[in-house]
Amino acid sequence: MTARTAVVTGAARGIGAATARRLAADGHAVAVLDLAEDQAEHTAKAIREAGGKAIAVGADVADEAAATAAVERVAAELGAPQILVNNAGILRDNLLFKMTAGDWDAVMSVHLRGAFLMSRAVQSHMVEAKWGRIVNLSSTSALGNRGQANYAAAKAGMQGLTKTLAIELGRFGITANAVAPGFIQTEMTKATAERIGVPFEDFLAHAAKEAPVGRVGQPEDIAAAVAYFASEEAGFVSGQVLYVAGGPRA
Ligand code: NAP
Repeated sequence: MTARTAVVTGAARGIGAATARRLAADGHAVAVLDLAEDQAEHTAKAIREAGGKAIAVGADVADEAAATAAVERVAAELGAPQILVNNAGILRDNLLFKMTAGDWDAVMSVHLRGAFLMSRAVQSHMVEAKWGRIVNLSSTSALGNRGQANYAAAKAGMQGLTKTLAIELGRFGITANAVAPGFIQTEMTKATAERIGVPFEDFLAHAAKEAPVGRVGQPEDIAAAVAYFASEEAGFVSGQVLYVAGGPRA
């Protein structure tokens, strides 16, 4: 496999960290991007200790200047980015009547504005290389989920963004695809359990029982799907949404 430079956002922990480790294991140099550079450094250090190549980059993906500067730093220190995984995300769950405009804006900003800004910043490098892979993190919540009007709209938006990037960028050898996870055991789902006052173990057991495969997902399950879309051999697959949810959620 040709070694490329990859940027994974929100990669200090969870799905992003597993994806960064997986892309590094596949031979790519990885920029581990997260809000706090010292947190991102944990993932980057683990990759280097395992024999891979990685740097930590601190940036808020929703900040236009920071997103642009981060991509330029990656190009200078690791090489022109040709793989982008838009994974950074937050939750601000609440029922519609209790959801604030701030909750709405924060979620739209990180997921959608962040993915737009990062995709726009990397595309010139990909166009120049005539090769690129953009993988966006959607969710089964894109199909609708109680208490997640903001998140569901953002994750459905990620699918529309993905399909449009696929149409616009395909002629330059760039594909864009989305992975839509179901329940994955991370800090994000742990925070949801805390918010609704359910012990995490019980929350996991319930989700496992609901899933046709009888277990919850692990970050590595999602990393494997992202790695496929990022691979050389996935070059004819573009504009697709792959639900990785332990069952036919879509
Ligand atoms: P996570 O454990 O909460 O990790 C998300 C990471 O993104 C955190 O390190 C967070 O940093 C970072 N981040 C947040 N805002 C950012 C910003 N503006 N700029 C840069 N980084 C930022 O979440 P996860 O469960 O791994 O989820 C990863 C992605 O998968 C998200 O897009 C999520 O919506 C999606 N997803 C997750 C699940 C699931 O069940 N876990 C299901 C479907 C989809 P801080 O800690 O500093 O905030």
